Amino acid sequence: MATIQNNVQLVRRRIAQACAAAGRDPSAVTLLCVSKTQAAEQVRAAVDAGEHRFGENYVQEGLDKIAALAELRARIEWHLIGPLQSNKTRAVAEHFDWVHGIDRLKIAERLSAQRPPGLPPLQVCLQVNVSGEASKSGVAPEALPALAAAVATLPRLRLRGLMAIPEPSRDPAAQRRPHRRLRELLAALPPLPGGPLDTLSMGMSDDLEAAVAEGATIVRIGTAVFGARSAAGAGAGGGAVG
Ligand SMILES: *Cc1c(COP(=O)(O)O)cnc(C)c1O
Repeated sequence: MATIQNNVQLVRRRIAQACAAAGRDPSAVTLLCVSKTQAAEQVRAAVDAGEHRFGENYVQEGLDKIAALAELRARIEWHLIGPLQSNKTRAVAEHFDWVHGIDRLKIAERLSAQRPPGLPPLQVCLQVNVSGEASKSGVAPEALPALAAAVATLPRLRLRGLMAIPEPSRDPAAQRRPHRRLRELLAALPPLPGGPLDTLSMGMSDDLEAAVAEGATIVRIGTAVFGARSAAGAGAGGGAVG
């Protein structure tokens, strides 16, 4: 588990360097460790290394891990970053702190209605399709203002910003384009009932620098923190055999 500590330090350094290059304050970028397919013990090692925000893609896997790490619940912020179907909204409203991938009003309405009164509002981001036909999930940019206006009025949600999963690219300039697009879409939103949005959830292990250069405030990093995911459990963005 010493590797996780090393990896966390390397990722923090990458974030700091990307912030320095962009003239940004490193405290403006939050590291979200993507723990999908990783065992609860790996999450515990990352907590020991000083991390306390974790992202899960699959609802049931996330719920299992939250339960396995129940004694750390007060120290961990759990983010759902994968797709969410309506039959799973109640469990998510009851157990997670953030949901990044909202692209339909119906899902947001269910989460708001099902968020237990004793918990703070669920923090949410709207997922935007910035890759056009290459991507099936995310709201179309044209439909974003109406969705944002509707979600911002839901009482038990707090709309924080936008999230994107751009098509992978090896070219740094091409990597920046969809991130820039997301930043511009956020800036172009008219004033919303809940106040200004402060979150751009974008950037993964391979395009962290491009995302920070374009204003990311949450980077979602899996492989660079935990190592390669096993092929059996790998989800979106995964696949390498460890
Ligand atoms: C898997 C995943 C990540 C992390 O990807 P890495 O390339 O391992 O850093 C980030 N965001 C989402 C939505 C993912 O599914």
